[in-house]
Amino acid sequence: MILSLLKQRRRKRLRTRPFPKQWLTLIQRHVVFFRRLSASDRAELLGHIQVFLAEKRFEGCGGFAIADEVLVTIAAQACLLLLHRRTDYFPGLLTILVYPLSYMVEEKRQVGEHLWEERTVSRLGETGRRMGSLVLSWGAVKHGAADPVDGKNVVLHEFAHQLDYENHAADGVPGLATREQQLAWAAVMKSEFASLRAADESGIPTLLDTYGATDPAEFFAVSVEAFFERPRALRARHPKLYAELQGYFQQDPVEFSAEQDG
Ligand SMILES: [Zn+2]
Repeated sequence: MILSLLKQRRRKRLRTRPFPKQWLTLIQRHVVFFRRLSASDRAELLGHIQVFLAEKRFEGCGGFAIADEVLVTIAAQACLLLLHRRTDYFPGLLTILVYPLSYMVEEKRQVGEHLWEERTVSRLGETGRRMGSLVLSWGAVKHGAADPVDGKNVVLHEFAHQLDYENHAADGVPGLATREQQLAWAAVMKSEFASLRAADESGIPTLLDTYGATDPAEFFAVSVEAFFERPRALRARHPKLYAELQGYFQQDPVEFSAEQDG
């Protein structure tokens, strides 16, 4: 109780301290959505960024050096997910690992009952419920910040997974306040997930990345990318999904999105 009060007080102090000018310049230059936010949202975001950068550790991998541009470009995109609601700043996450470009991992996957295939795949980001860390490719982060309407954003995707873990399971359900909200969420996600799977199997083009057909956790992460990057299209084509995300995030990205109509 006292600890949490101290934490809250420390965070409040961090949020209200003057934002470093050189950081602001970098954000204005590299994070395209930032200039489209309302003045009050920009101020709230900068406050969250100060807490985020004070609490998370960054590590460069593969010889990559973490410059200020890297810190603020990741923080600004991650903290967009925190606006307008009470937040504990991705509590399970301690360290963010950054590779210069994509990185290779050995992946073992089951292809038959007793058959496993091992292969080397390249990745742009990942995180896990018990990892305490999140991995990102700087190349993908930079691209995501520069193009806010292509439907893809590795930072939003991986940090959406962290929100999913806040209620202790990687099940595509973030922390929702009431039982009613949980039931409504479950009903919408179940039917939207099923239709993405069906579309994926029959090869019908979809607005949502079909990677979301993997499981409910990936479905949530992919939906969050679409919510912030293609809000008009998502609202038109998946109004119930849009409404659930809008209720959870307490945001309406249509208001600040650079996405064109149609
Ligand atoms: Zn994912």
